Amino acid sequence: MVTSVKIHPSVDNGIPPTKEGFAGGELTCHCSENPVKVKVSAQTAHNHVCGCTQCWKPDGAIFSQVAVVGRDAVEVTANEDKLQVVDPNAVIKRHACKECGVHMYGRIEDQNHPFYGLDFVHTELSDEPGWAAPTFAAFVSSIIEGGTNPDDMDDIRAQLEQMGLPPYDCLSPPLMDAISTHKAKAAGVLR
Ligand SMILES: [Zn+2]
Ligand SMILES: [Zn+2]
Repeated sequence: MVTSVKIHPSVDNGIPPTKEGFAGGELTCHCSENPVKVKVSAQTAHNHVCGCTQCWKPDGAIFSQVAVVGRDAVEVTANEDKLQVVDPNAVIKRHACKECGVHMYGRIEDQNHPFYGLDFVHTELSDEPGWAAPTFAAFVSSIIEGGTNPDDMDDIRAQLEQMGLPPYDCLSPPLMDAISTHKAKAAGVLR
């Protein structure tokens, strides 16, 4: 297996398995003092590695790892005053720690958005094992915008396949179908 390309620390040494019955945990930012803590009281869904330039990535990673969970299951439990929205104009309001830069949760406030009601979280910020394992790679072509050489793309896509993370240049088919279903219902095409 080709392991020359570093995708993300949570998947480069083998993907930890999902634990059945896992019910969530606590996310902690990277500050050594007064870290921001976010309690996630449910298992996540649609975990994936993401190549877009908006998601938070740990140092040296070319992909982020990000999952969704119901917004009702997300609660800031410590040092909320250190959070600020990275880009107030973005659809996903990414609440990041002002000091260490880690994104603690991303929230959609537009009630007409297909993913309204879901928050985006990085479960690597939790020590607990058992979070939903990543199952695909999204927005893979976008890593070029982040500085990856276009000539490396064939190798990177091949490696993602081998790791069990099929690469897509948008989201996965189930999520793209969910978006289109939402739009079709909003337009009255689908009832
Ligand atoms: Zn911090
Ligand atoms: Zn992303």
